[in-house]
Amino acid sequence: MAEKFFWADAIAEKIIKERGKKKEYVCASGITPSGTIHIGNFREIITTDLVVKALENKGKKVKFIYSWDDYDRFRKVPKNVSEKYEKYIGMPLSEIPSPFGKGSYASYFEKELENQLKKVGINPYYIYQNERNKKCQYASLIKIALDNREKIMKILNKYRKEPLNKNWQPISIYCEKCKKDFTKILQINNYEIEYECGCGFKDKFDFRKKGIISVKWRIDWPMRWKYEKVDFEPGGIDHSVYGGSYTTSKEIIKEIYKAEAPIYVFYDWVKIKGGKEFSSSTGNVTTIQDVLDIYEPEIARYLFVGTKPKTGFQISFDNDVIKIYEDYDKLEEKYYSKKADSREKRIYELCQIKLNKKKPNKESFRHLISLVQIGKLENLNKKSKERALKVKNWLKKYAGEDMKFKVQNKITSKLTAKEKLALIELKERLRKKKYSEEDLFNEFYKICEKVDIKNTEFFDAAYRVLINKKKGPRLAALILNIGQNKIIKLLEKIK
Ligand SMILES: [Zn+2]
Repeated sequence: MAEKFFWADAIAEKIIKERGKKKEYVCASGITPSGTIHIGNFREIITTDLVVKALENKGKKVKFIYSWDDYDRFRKVPKNVSEKYEKYIGMPLSEIPSPFGKGSYASYFEKELENQLKKVGINPYYIYQNERNKKCQYASLIKIALDNREKIMKILNKYRKEPLNKNWQPISIYCEKCKKDFTKILQINNYEIEYECGCGFKDKFDFRKKGIISVKWRIDWPMRWKYEKVDFEPGGIDHSVYGGSYTTSKEIIKEIYKAEAPIYVFYDWVKIKGGKEFSSSTGNVTTIQDVLDIYEPEIARYLFVGTKPKTGFQISFDNDVIKIYEDYDKLEEKYYSKKADSREKRIYELCQIKLNKKKPNKESFRHLISLVQIGKLENLNKKSKERALKVKNWLKKYAGEDMKFKVQNKITSKLTAKEKLALIELKERLRKKKYSEEDLFNEFYKICEKVDIKNTEFFDAAYRVLINKKKGPRLAALILNIGQNKIIKLLEKIK
């Protein structure tokens, strides 16, 4: 369905209209770094990025914040992390050692994603919630939540089957001794909290001075909207259902923090086709890096830019990759020949990390599939060489068998008398002149006519001899890519 406007521009307009004139607009996104961040979460990040860019294109100043919820508790050991990490359950993610090398558990997964985002041209302002919490930056807002505990419970209970326990609190405490949150609040007196831990430790502290509080998600979210004055934030479908965390956060920010909830859009899931299974519980997740191994950064963006957030889609790792490269190249061609309509123009521009003045000169992915396998890359320009690397990765990990071949240097296939005659005729003609692809293609039919062999039989024999397969890339192109001389040498071996 053709849309007149690009979706991110429509959201930007809505933000300006509903939030009013502001010196600076704040767009937010974030996640708990509980393990490797999968490509599905990238949809949230790029949705925000595109809205940020749309606002900027309208001349607005925008702050893009990405919140690492790394003071959240460690809930579950992912499959790609040692089982020994069981002992850290209940501790803040920022206080656990990294499973792979130096630093903390949280920072390991944070840096992993931050590095990947750089490659696709996304550079938000990162907020590490463990730092803010440890510095007690939310103390006054936490106080408001504690003072309004009953009101908050009433809001949350509206959407719950089982009401919250009467002793429920909007926060939990990390024990100062064992660092875990298996604690019980005994008493709250103004800013002073008395707690007792399962480890036996018992203490009193002032939460303006000691940052050992973790605010529960449904209160934490609206609290930070208030703190950051967030104007826009997308959310996954799980947060977006009626009675989900967006519903309650919207009520809490209004009733408790006396502010308006940001403009919100929900994004649907991304599925993976022909790649790894998509599951965070197995630790075997598809990451942005997996996508970047086979897609150029602009095309990785293109996968997301062209689809509205609320529409689900799939990222292909199988032979569809060729088609996606072709679609993108077509869009690029249209853009530089000024044939793109306004929406296509917008999509192309938002895919770019740095917009080139001239159309980038690159070989097609399909052509490179042959060149890579023939090993003929020396004459390629820099951009095509970069694309060839993606092709190599793709051939190695995901390409269908029909796309793979190996140029032969011996005749291994049995040939009929007619097939031999036709291929020898081909050899003779290749000796006589240098062909263009079109001329060579026409020559095949002349050969078939002369030898009186069916076209299909001729092609079949040629593929068998050249690459030991029944099918392959366009034959004329294949021969020219391999080089006429090499083909002559191979065909000389026909006895
Ligand atoms: Zn303890």
